[in-house]
Amino acid sequence: MDIAFDQLIKLQHVDAEIASLVSLLEAVPGRLEAIDRKIQATTDVVTQAKDRLASNQKKRRDMEGEIKSIRETIAKYKRQQNEVKSNKEFEAIKKEIAETQARIEVIEETILNEMIAADDVEKEIKAAQAAQASQEGTLKAEKAAVTAERGEIESRKTAAESERAGLLPLIPAEQVKLYNRIHVKKGGIAMSQVTDDFCSLCQMRVRPQLLDELIAGKTIILCEACGRILYWLKTADDGTSPSPVIVSSSPADDSEPHEV
Ligand SMILES: [Zn+2]
Repeated sequence: MDIAFDQLIKLQHVDAEIASLVSLLEAVPGRLEAIDRKIQATTDVVTQAKDRLASNQKKRRDMEGEIKSIRETIAKYKRQQNEVKSNKEFEAIKKEIAETQARIEVIEETILNEMIAADDVEKEIKAAQAAQASQEGTLKAEKAAVTAERGEIESRKTAAESERAGLLPLIPAEQVKLYNRIHVKKGGIAMSQVTDDFCSLCQMRVRPQLLDELIAGKTIILCEACGRILYWLKTADDGTSPSPVIVSSSPADDSEPHEV
């Protein structure tokens, strides 16, 4: 039986292309997630700054509430002061009022510092929002490009798969079966070209007798070391220097001058 070397080699090329397209497709979700994380990060910076501003405002409101309640206490002391009978009591309340008033001053100082801090946070928010606006467009465009690329890879994969389906009927079933088995077992590479007299994938020398059989092209020879289907690319003349007649038989693609 003739061995469908031409088609088997094409099958190998198509399978390699499908494998590389599959790995490109597998990388797409990760690439999109990475862009989403960048978009999220720009939003997070704005959110965090806004949270800081909100907590600053709450702190100030709480302190203003505290001042209000202290002022009520002072008013109460002042009413008591009007009702006291002795000088001693009067002085005691006066001291109390002064101490309470001092607490208000400390709190007001803190409020002032918080207001200054709030100005900085507001500037941060504005800067973060500007950065977000300028990066968002770029990142969304990046995402659209990756999505478009995925569509293109998918259609290349579909084309390669239909090319594969078209090749299969051209190869005897037994040879397809053997190819598929080795393809799965050998990490997606079932075919190995013999260059000089070596298996190009594992570099094992092919015994001269096997090499003769291989060149005759009537039987499948597996590499004795790596187990792949060996193939020999014939040349136009004597077969000693292989050239890819299988890939292209067009003279225009052949850089070596040859006689007709
Ligand atoms: Zn080998």
